[in-house]
Amino acid sequence: MNEKESFNNKPSIKPFSEVTIFHGHICPGSAIGYKAANAGLNELKSSISEDEEIVAVVENDSCAVDAVQVLTGCTFGKGNLVFKDHGKQVYTFINRNTNDAVRVSLNDSFSVDTLAPQLGKRRALVNSGVATELEKADLKQMTVEVSEEILDIPNSKMFHIEHVEVDLPEKAKIYKSVKCSECGEMVSEHRSRVRNGKIICIPCFGDVNK
Ligand SMILES: [Zn+2]
Ligand SMILES: [Zn+2]
Repeated sequence: MNEKESFNNKPSIKPFSEVTIFHGHICPGSAIGYKAANAGLNELKSSISEDEEIVAVVENDSCAVDAVQVLTGCTFGKGNLVFKDHGKQVYTFINRNTNDAVRVSLNDSFSVDTLAPQLGKRRALVNSGVATELEKADLKQMTVEVSEEILDIPNSKMFHIEHVEVDLPEKAKIYKSVKCSECGEMVSEHRSRVRNGKIICIPCFGDVNK
């Protein structure tokens, strides 16, 4: 998103640079997430969620989700970032106050490979470990360029955006803690298990990673 595209009369939306600070690097994924969140918030006429009024349902766990978190303010900790492991570039933004919900899905015609045909080859070369410093720098440059290109694509060209009806996820609950009878550590009651009448945490119950 360039600064030319202003959001006059609309709540201000954070610049992409804040996503990059949070995410750590510029990449097509974070650019896609930025655009998706931008499209959703614009459609909801909202900006950042300070409390829990905005809920974001994300259907992948890619770089894009970091951008969604920065723009919407939705986080796991607040319980208003919901992850559905579908492996799809689909994002649903819900405003609890208005009950309005917008589903933003990436068009099947969108392709990073089409925008940057050389990127895949260059990345494969760098990943193989034989690339020169120049080729590594070139990959970085190509990645930044294609990300900037993505930011300039109009939302309506990139996504299918529609208002939908959704069931509101419950607000974050505070659960009481109970003590695991095996390791002695405290565990949230709704995640505890019971074996032979004793409360046991999930790792002790399954002996996983113990
Ligand atoms: Zn990334
Ligand atoms: Zn335990």
